[in-house]
Amino acid sequence: VTEERPENPELHQYRLRAREWLAANIPIASEENPGDVQDPRLERLAEFKQRQQRLFEAGYAGFTFPPEYGGQGLTLEHERVFAEEASSYDMPSTNFGVSINILGATLVAYGSHEQKQAHVANILSGKELWLQFLSEPSGGSDLGGLLTSAVRDGDYYIVNGQKTWSTGAHLSDFALCPVRTRWDVPKHKGISVLIIDLKSPGIEIRRIKQIDGGAEFCEEFFTDMAVPAVNLVGEENEGWRVARGLLEIEHAWVGRGGARTNTASAGVAPIVSLVKRRGLDHDTGVRRQVVGLHVASMAQDLVSARVSDAIAAGKLAHGYGSLLKLGDDIVTQRRAEYALAVAGASGVAWRAGDPDESGWSRDFLDSRSDSIAGGTDEIQRNNVSERVLGLPREPSFDRDIPFNQVPHN
Ligand SMILES: Cc1cc2nc3c(=O)[nH]c(=O)nc-3n(C[C@H](O)[C@H](O)[C@H](O)COP(=O)(O)OP(=O)(O)OC[C@H]3O[C@@H](n4cnc5c(N)ncnc54)[C@H](O)[C@@H]3O)c2cc1C
Repeated sequence: VTEERPENPELHQYRLRAREWLAANIPIASEENPGDVQDPRLERLAEFKQRQQRLFEAGYAGFTFPPEYGGQGLTLEHERVFAEEASSYDMPSTNFGVSINILGATLVAYGSHEQKQAHVANILSGKELWLQFLSEPSGGSDLGGLLTSAVRDGDYYIVNGQKTWSTGAHLSDFALCPVRTRWDVPKHKGISVLIIDLKSPGIEIRRIKQIDGGAEFCEEFFTDMAVPAVNLVGEENEGWRVARGLLEIEHAWVGRGGARTNTASAGVAPIVSLVKRRGLDHDTGVRRQVVGLHVASMAQDLVSARVSDAIAAGKLAHGYGSLLKLGDDIVTQRRAEYALAVAGASGVAWRAGDPDESGWSRDFLDSRSDSIAGGTDEIQRNNVSERVLGLPREPSFDRDIPFNQVPHN
């Protein structure tokens, strides 16, 4: 499909150079090295950091980032071409995708020159791993209702409170963290965003053990953590703009397929192989289903490319990113559900190390979490209705009253 799409000569040359470079520098993904590990073990992280450094040095990191801060100053088309060429390689994307494309991009958009100089190139090269501290135990969807507090004390903010569901905090170096700096104004008007150095005193990071055996999530407890005031991103009490901008960047990136695992990026190809192995490739019903999934995947990819380019060119509002994320979640779930159905009983129980079967249930579970991570599908639907379709805002009882008068636990 990729080969058949007409491509301008410059982009085609870029593709050929990327293809050659990948073949010479990055190993092909395999069952042992699937390139999309959800729970990056420490020893693999060190290996992936070296790989990310190599990508950075070769100019294959931060495609659309400004050259001034270590980026390539290229277009989303270059990023897409590289991602297509890299899809079968053991790439460090899962480890660094969020750090670069959400946190790095947010810092470029909202950080000071000094903050960008200090961190962006390190983020692109994998030297610094960043994440976001958005969710709190009281709820993640209502980000504006966050309770973690920061009080200015001379050259520092003193931070107290708790965050949760932070992916990979135990392996990370820095976080962007919205905190409440005023309580006597409506909730969106008293938020500020801080850069938190995870190696500083005053923060305790605990891992959360999951039902599937993984432990990639963490919760963080802040006790009088002193954060330098120079770590404020944007203006004090104007952090809602930054936090909302971060979410828009996240939705657009996830929506253009940035967060997909290798299997999901491969569209229906893995399902076609499975169908053949099951001897179902002549079954008309199965063929019809697979074609339907292929059409949905292609449509999502093409819409995503068009809409992403239009957002990047300033022709569409950033709210359109929610449309893409929602579409990507739905198509990924449809594919994963169907693959599990074709795999049948062996999709839920398999012999240890059986390469044919073990991935289907993991893909299925991952596809469910896609509709929660980075904002649930219900929230994306709200965003689409309000920011894309211009429908009335969802009713809110606490939007306009001072936050210290809002009941919360
Ligand atoms: C794989 C994964 C990775 C994650 N990584 C991170 C991370 O690195 N950092 C981080 O901060 N968080 C992270 N999260 C947490 C994630 O952002 C939250 O789970 C998500 O925002 C939802 O918040 P919640 O779980 O508190 O659910 P709640 O906000 O309590 O929502 C519960 C349910 O109510 C629905 N709901 C809530 N409000 C509305 C509304 N206004 N209209 C309609 N329905 C509504 C929701 O859709 C949901 O179904 C991650 C989650 C996952 C699954």
